[in-house]
Amino acid sequence: MAEFFVTRNETEDKTHQIHSKTCDHLPEESALMYIGAYARKEAAEADATFYYKSVSYCPKCLA
Ligand SMILES: [Zn+2]
Repeated sequence: MAEFFVTRNETEDKTHQIHSKTCDHLPEESALMYIGAYARKEAAEADATFYYKSVSYCPKCLA
């Protein structure tokens, strides 16, 4: 299981980026919303879309 976060602010491509907790490029905590712990990033994405319509995977940690 890994813990996942989604950015509160949109990135340049107008999506909210999903990160793993272990990401080297994780934004500061105040810019993140905790999604939960999942075995697969697809499950994290499904729950992230509950908060934000357009989400994407961080290219550094979830590519
Ligand atoms: Zn990341």
